[in-house]
This record gives sequence, C-alpha cells and structure tokens, in this order.
Amino acid sequence: MPRTPKKEKSAAPRAAAATDRPPAGASAPAREEFNRPNVSFDNRLRPVTFDDFVGQEKVRDRLLLSVQAAKQRGDALDHVLLSGPPGLGKTTLCYILAREMGVKVHATSGPVIEKPSDLAGMLTGLDRGDILFIDEIHRMQTAVEEYLYSAMEDYVLDIMIDQGPNARSIRLELPRFTLVGATTRQGLLSAPLRSRFSINARLDYYTPEELALVVKRSAGILGVEIDAAGAREIAGRSRGTARVANNLLRRVRDFAQVRAGNRITAEVADEALGMEGIDRAGLDEMDKRILSCICEDFGGGPVGLGTIAVSVGEEAGTIEDVYEPYLIQEGYIARTFRGREATPLAFKALGLGTVSKRGQPTLGI
Ligand code: ADP
Repeated sequence: MPRTPKKEKSAAPRAAAATDRPPAGASAPAREEFNRPNVSFDNRLRPVTFDDFVGQEKVRDRLLLSVQAAKQRGDALDHVLLSGPPGLGKTTLCYILAREMGVKVHATSGPVIEKPSDLAGMLTGLDRGDILFIDEIHRMQTAVEEYLYSAMEDYVLDIMIDQGPNARSIRLELPRFTLVGATTRQGLLSAPLRSRFSINARLDYYTPEELALVVKRSAGILGVEIDAAGAREIAGRSRGTARVANNLLRRVRDFAQVRAGNRITAEVADEALGMEGIDRAGLDEMDKRILSCICEDFGGGPVGLGTIAVSVGEEAGTIEDVYEPYLIQEGYIARTFRGREATPLAFKALGLGTVSKRGQPTLGI
C-alpha cells in the first residue's frame, strides 16, 4: 500500500464544527446563523491561556499539572481525552495545551481519517512533542483506530505495503507526540483506545455565573459595553454552553449597535433575544422535542430512551450524551430505573399543565 503524501501541517485552529443548535422558536435567519460553522468568530473569542479559560477548575488544574510535569521532564505531554457536549471548550483547551507546551497542533477529525494511510500521513508529519488533535474521535473507523494503539503506546506504526504475495509490513518510528482526542460520546470509544489516554477529562456545563464571565470577556474583545445584568441575561439563556453564550452575545451586540448606543443592559439583551424568539431558559428545538415527547406523548413518563429516540428522530446515544445531561442538571427530567420522567418544570417550560400518570390533566404547577 503506497504511503499517503504528508498532510500539510497546520497550527491554525480547526474549523469549528457546526454544533450550535438554535434555541426553540428562533427565527429562520437566527437558526441559520446558529448552524453555520463560525470559524473566525470562534477563534477570535477563544481563550489562549489557562487564565483566560473560565470555569472547569478541576480539568484545568489537572491539565496544568500535567503540562508542568511534562515540561520539567522535557517530555511530550501525556495523551489527553477531552469529552463533553459540544461548545464547552474541548478545542479551546487543546490549543491552550499546545501554547503552554510550545508545540504545534495538527488538527483532524475522526470521520476524515478514512484509511490507515491517512493516519500514517498525519503521524509521520509530526515533530517531537507536537499535538495531533482528533475531534470526534469516536467516529474513527476501527481499522484506523487499531493503528493508533502502537502509535500511542510505543511511538511506532506498523503498516502493510503492497498486496498479495508482495505484501510486507514495515515499521515506522514516530516522534514522541501527544494525541488529544475530543468526543461528545465517550461511551462509544472502545476500551483499548480509552485506556491509552492517561488523562481523561470530562467537561461540564457552565453555571450562569461562569457564562456571565465568558460573555463579559467576549464583549470586551468585540468592543461592546455590557453591564453585569446584561451579561447575566445572556448567560441565563445560553444552555450552560460557552459557544451558545458567544453566539447570543453576537445577536445582542448587533441590536445594541443599531438601537441602543452600543451598550448592553439587561433590557437591551432581553429585547434583542426576545426579537429572535430565544427561549428564556435557553432550551433549544431538540430539548423541547424531547420534553414534549415525555410530557405530551407519554403523560410525563416514565418512558424508555429508545422510545424517545424514535419519537424525536435522534440517536439514543446522542440524546443520552448531548441533550439529556443538561435537562437532568436543570431539573426538567429525572432518570429512573423505569425510564425518563418529566418534572413539573418540564410541563411549565412547554406551557402545559401537569398530567397525572392516569393521563388526567391537572391544572397549576
Ligand atoms: P468544543 O470543542 O467543546 O465544541 P470550543 O472549544 O470550540 O468547544 O468552544 C467554543 C467557543 O466557546 C470558543 O470559541 C470559545 O470562545 C468559547 N469557550 C469555550 N470554553 C470557554 C471557556 N472556558 N472560557 C471562555 N470561552 C470559552
């Protein structure tokens, strides 16, 4: 099998995945805006040091410690797996790690690496200490993934060249490098791959207070004035997600620029987001579909994950890893051994009265 030519090295942040979801009821242009990959906007607002990076203290402390240890040893950083829902800062952390280590990032994503030779091309293009960032690492083909094992553990790559009677394996020595994997679906990673990451960090949703800090910081970079109440108003509607907070800020900034003298207050934010049809609680279209399925179709539950998945047209695993954690954290649904149950808050969010288990609607929550 011929070797793939070396891929071009890249230290530039990857194109951010189109992972933002539009809030429920958002107007068509707003929805388009949220779905569009927003490379330059994301990059402009991306924190570049651990000090700029808001929240996620435990993850930050652990990574900082590993960076210091690797630097003291003069070694490459250990392999890092970053998991958590989209927009929480996995890519950002990868670039912060690279900056702290003084190395380059070579970014790719699981589905892009189609063949072992693609992987070989990337790995052989690395310099000592460089970071190979694989986004959506859970979507990598098994045949490719198997080549990663020896690369991660022993820094060698055994590849087959030629076919039939001429087939033979050659061993490529690789420089010591760091693999940073990012995933929204940690459960889909095979055990052998997961066990090869010595640092396994899970990012959590941000609190409204943390998101208010993100919004204030971003407003400073964008050159728009914002008061504390304005930042809180945006933060509260951001679904615990930094990228959503930045995107909402962008909507509000436009409004403030044209109608409010470039100054964001709580009233300005409320009016701007109200105009976009953005839900007060920040729930998005899929959140509402899931809640509506449990509350309206199944009288509040309990209902199994598989049934919800079929009903809303989304993969069960994605619901479990991407949507449900936020809905549980915010108290909209509860996970019981019989399935998912809606809480009164869920009925309220949908503007419904609660429904008893026997299907009798009850008024008032
Ligand atoms: P992910 O890779 O998890 O989908 P990103 O790292 O691309 O998320 O983050 C999306 C955006 O959110 C980035 O542009 C960055 O500006 C912002 N962001 C993420 N985490 C933080 C944070 N902890 N502090 C400030 N901004 C953040």
